Amino acid sequence: MEAVVVKEALSVAVVDNSVADHWDQARLEWRIVGSEYDPEAGGTCICGKQRIADQFTIENPQTGMTLFPIGNECIKLFDRPDFDERSHLHLDAKRSLRAQGLNAGTLDLKSVSKRVIEASLRAGVINEWQCGFLIDMKGKRRPPSPKQEAKMVEALGQIASGLDSGVMALPSDSGDEDRQ
Ligand SMILES: [Zn+2]
Repeated sequence: MEAVVVKEALSVAVVDNSVADHWDQARLEWRIVGSEYDPEAGGTCICGKQRIADQFTIENPQTGMTLFPIGNECIKLFDRPDFDERSHLHLDAKRSLRAQGLNAGTLDLKSVSKRVIEASLRAGVINEWQCGFLIDMKGKRRPPSPKQEAKMVEALGQIASGLDSGVMALPSDSGDEDRQ
C-alpha cells in the first residue's frame, strides 16, 4: 500500500494555522469555503505549485484562519470525502462555465451536471421545483415541449448567472443536511 505523501509546504501552512500539531489531525479541522476558476491560471498554491487555475479557499473555524489559494492536487491530499465531493462540484461548475463561455453566455442542459443542479438549489439560485424539473428533463429522451423549453431556459439562465457567486461559493459542508 502506498501512503499519501503530503507536500511539506502544504502541511506546514496547514499545521501552523491549526490547533493540532500534526498533519493527520490538523487536516480534519478545515472546511472549503469557496472555489474559483481562473482561466489564466495565475495562482500559486500554498505548496508552491505555480499556474494553478482551480483555486480553493479553506478556513479553520477553530483558529479563524483562511488559506488561499489551494490547488486541486493539494485538496486531494487532505484525503477527505467531503473535500473530494466539493472538488468534483468545482470541476463540474468549471465545465459549465467553459460551455457557457463558448456559447455566448448561454447554458444548455447537457453542460450542467446533476451535481451542479442540486448545488444551485442549495445556493438558492433555483428553487426546489426547478431543481426537480431539470433533473427530470436530463433523464428524458424526447425533446421538451415549447412550454417545458421555456421553463428550462429560465432555470438554466438562473444557474448560468449563479455559477460564480452561488455554486462556487458553497462550503464543503453545504450538502450536510444534519449540520446546524
Ligand atoms: Zn498545492
